[in-house]
Amino acid sequence: MEVFEQYWSAVQFKVCVNCIDSDGHGNCRLSGEEECGLKAHFPKIIEAILSVRDHRIEPYIESLRTNVCASCRHQTPDGTCSFRSRLNCGLDRYFPLIIEAVEDIRFGSEAHRDAFGDGR
Ligand code: SF4
Ligand code: SF4
Repeated sequence: MEVFEQYWSAVQFKVCVNCIDSDGHGNCRLSGEEECGLKAHFPKIIEAILSVRDHRIEPYIESLRTNVCASCRHQTPDGTCSFRSRLNCGLDRYFPLIIEAVEDIRFGSEAHRDAFGDGR
């Protein structure tokens, strides 16, 4: 669980702080029916991003649609989402920044492991 907290802090710092729906300090003002997909699906989002390793954004979007949007109550069986089409989903709106925040941690920790190794 700790690892998700690390990702959440990074995303909050990079994305939520600048989001039109936050209080300006990274705390989300949306709840209930309006709850942001980023909060509602966070662990699945992290898994969706970490399952991809690509310099293009398209595979990440594909993974998000398959692993997160497909089970979101806002997406209809034909694959459309009215939240998304009206730019009301913070997760979709800021997805490139969310990927960056997550990848900074993933590659940061990999670089750290490469640099310090396992002592052998
Ligand atoms: S709407 Fe989403 S991206 Fe914006 S502050 Fe809330 S959780 Fe963060
Ligand atoms: S884009 Fe739509 S289906 Fe995907 S997480 Fe956001 S609200 Fe849900």
